[in-house]
Amino acid sequence: MNIHEYQAKELLKSFGVPVPNGDVAFNDKQAAQVAEELGGSRWVVKAQIHAGGRGKAGGVKVVDSIDQVKKAADAMIGHRLVTHQTGPAGSMVQRVWIEQASDIKHEFYLGFVIDRATQRITVIASSEGGMDIEEVAQAHPDKIVKEVVDPAIGLRDFQCRKVATAIGLKGKLMPQMVKLMKAIYRCMRDKDVLQAEINPLAVVGDGDEKLMVLDAKFSFDDNALFRQRGVTDLRDLAEEDPKEVEATGHGLNYIALDGNIGCIVNGAGLAMASLDAITLHGGRPANFLDVGGGASPEKVTNACRIVLQDPNVKCILVNIFAGINRCDWIAQGLIQACNSLQIKVPLIVRLAGTNVEEGRQILAESGLSFITAENLDAAAAKAVATVQG
Ligand code: GDP
Ligand code: MN
Repeated sequence: MNIHEYQAKELLKSFGVPVPNGDVAFNDKQAAQVAEELGGSRWVVKAQIHAGGRGKAGGVKVVDSIDQVKKAADAMIGHRLVTHQTGPAGSMVQRVWIEQASDIKHEFYLGFVIDRATQRITVIASSEGGMDIEEVAQAHPDKIVKEVVDPAIGLRDFQCRKVATAIGLKGKLMPQMVKLMKAIYRCMRDKDVLQAEINPLAVVGDGDEKLMVLDAKFSFDDNALFRQRGVTDLRDLAEEDPKEVEATGHGLNYIALDGNIGCIVNGAGLAMASLDAITLHGGRPANFLDVGGGASPEKVTNACRIVLQDPNVKCILVNIFAGINRCDWIAQGLIQACNSLQIKVPLIVRLAGTNVEEGRQILAESGLSFITAENLDAAAAKAVATVQG
């Protein structure tokens, strides 16, 4: 689960991390009011969407009058912002964050991720922060430093100093960096954060220089949300695929992909294998969908409806290996779905396991034109032939 920049900043602030003073606004009038209350003479208006690359796409504006704050907010709110991370359709901006502008001296990159290889939280930092960290990683890998945290003892001061030195922080910025890194680490551990990215972490101010978090992207472990009430409140469903949101509500595991063969499968492993089989035969899956064990006819109908909400779907591959499931229920569900949803695309059905004979008989006697297959390979081949033919 992802959250907005302003929510991440508020969370970081509660852990004692320095962030600029600011507030969120849902319309231009509110934005002007926020800027007035913040005071000062320069503000930054930032579009809040769950994607980066806003700076280059016009989603971050530094302005120096209340009137410009209002204009910038008006130009963002209610419009789709297209960045290199949103895809061509962009994301609808529903809120902006207004903060006091910082006098930036230098921009650093600071990320906390869980490294799958070592299974440990790893700090990634660079002196070359700002907008093009991916390019830095490609062209100058030596400008990126990494520090692995031992979970038994947590992030140590010496590790923070090592990172700070490597990216060129010295003097009184050094203890600030140690404090900031340890606070982000604590936040990550306590809130089940999977990834925390601060880009830029900036040195701001004249003379009295200090560190400040100017942008923050956080994603949380979905499997830990049950114990993170405060975090689930930050969810913005408008930022998520509506099909995925609906599927979660029906106890279905659905993930949208960009192909044209819809998939309804039981079991995550078999679902992955089905995607592989389709790809192997030269096709492209439109989604991952695991109906789970004990799929009632209603659940199968819901699965069909969600898969068909994707306009790219040209056929549906149903692949069931029934252990806890029952093929007769699945067959009934498919017939129910065909009747209630008036499905126009071909359905390729592979049933195996518990009550398979009953299931096949129900399909055969339904009078509907299912394309049946004996095994996964044949089913995938038929699905691909259907969309290519
Ligand atoms: P992103 O492009 O979506 O990652 O958005 P960021 O929040 O990282 O903003 C992009 C760039 O805008 C930053 O790298 C900064 O150079 C600039 N920026 C962001 N906040 C401020 C600020 O408070 N003051 C100034 N002067 N520039 C800012
Ligand atoms: Mn950024």
